[in-house]
Amino acid sequence: MASEKTQAIVLRVVEFSETSCVLTLFTEHFGKVGALAKGARRPKGPFEGALDLLALVRIVFLRKSSDALDLLTEAKLQRRFRSAQRELPRLYAGYYVAELLSELTDNGDPHPELFALADETLLALDSGRPVAPTVLRFEVLALRLLGHLPSLDECVGCGQSIPEQDRTAFGLVAGGVLCARCRPGQRQVVSITRSGLATLRRFATAHGDWDSLVLEDLVLEDKVRGELRGVWNNYLAHLIGHKPRMHEYLGVLASG
Ligand SMILES: [Zn+2]
Repeated sequence: MASEKTQAIVLRVVEFSETSCVLTLFTEHFGKVGALAKGARRPKGPFEGALDLLALVRIVFLRKSSDALDLLTEAKLQRRFRSAQRELPRLYAGYYVAELLSELTDNGDPHPELFALADETLLALDSGRPVAPTVLRFEVLALRLLGHLPSLDECVGCGQSIPEQDRTAFGLVAGGVLCARCRPGQRQVVSITRSGLATLRRFATAHGDWDSLVLEDLVLEDKVRGELRGVWNNYLAHLIGHKPRMHEYLGVLASG
């Protein structure tokens, strides 16, 4: 059994026995990991309260070769997700980040850049950044990193550039915008407004850290926000294969 060290975000904590928990962790270097934390539920246990949902922790774990759970041997708290005690929309947004990480990645498939994105997103939620654009930024960039970003400029059917127009067809199954010629016969097509599409493009091409995005970019008009949540929720539900659990709570983000 190899002993591994890495940073991790706690995605899920399930009670396993009177004293132990089973954790789902999104680690920096090993991707998603399922691990047993023996004694985690004991007061004054070995993990000293480090294993809270969405906490950033530095861990040591023993990798099991088969399907068995890995074994967590150390966890040091680096940062708690403090929004959990403050505003409900920030808490839901954090849960949603955890849900997407869990749904969109496989066990043992490392995505260090996605880890960095998740870490900075949780920090942004904790430090008072506006919630709706923070969530949208995470969704768009996460899909880009995982190769699931829908085509936003060229028709996903024929590759031609989509002309500037008031409304553009967006194929949920096809995975992106559709030109007038390719649209007929496509299943699950929604229509997206010029400003909605422009906003998605802006988020999809935003590089670098938070400070390189000016604040105006981060405040979405109410109308655009509602529209984008609709399109994006549908696209993600299609991608994952079911509606994410947290979507019903994200209504908060569409309106506020
Ligand atoms: Zn086309």
